[in-house]
Amino acid sequence: MDSEQILEHFRQSGALLEGHFILSSGLHSANYLQCALALQYPADAAKFGKTIAEHFTNENIETVAAPAIGGLIIGYAVAEALNVRFIWTERQDGVMTVRRGFSVRQRERMLVVEDVITTGGSTRECIEALESRGARVTGAASIIDRSGGAADVGVPRIALVSMEVPSYKPEDCPLCRQGIEAVKPGSRAKTS
Ligand SMILES: [Zn+2]
Repeated sequence: MDSEQILEHFRQSGALLEGHFILSSGLHSANYLQCALALQYPADAAKFGKTIAEHFTNENIETVAAPAIGGLIIGYAVAEALNVRFIWTERQDGVMTVRRGFSVRQRERMLVVEDVITTGGSTRECIEALESRGARVTGAASIIDRSGGAADVGVPRIALVSMEVPSYKPEDCPLCRQGIEAVKPGSRAKTS
């Protein structure tokens, strides 16, 4: 799948809305991304997982890991495509942690996978949690990179689609200036 096919799938599934949106942060944006909608059908998730896995087939990845919740489905799909183990990290009292009895071997070669990278924060925290247990995280991946390539997670990173999604304070919003009505996604948002 190339990036245009992936974006088209996101648009058709309602995962990528285009218009004028009020984000949960209160900022305005011309795009709204809800990746979970693009992964509702396991066959679609499997396709994305396979496409990510193709970047890592020669890296001797032993385990795929993901930060919950966003990374769970795509991480599982990548692990399935690489035929390796899948584990996840989750926040406990705000701190990304390895729980549920998941073991981490010393020097275990791991790949960290997320659905969307914006600042890279969750992926970085996931990497730190795994490396503090002795793992060696050799790469990171996401379906979408909203940072346009800028996010640095400390290990080599790939994304299937790279896009810059500018957001604006309401008073600086060019869409507001054009008189386009702003909507909160989930209320009256429409796909274009
Ligand atoms: Zn606006």
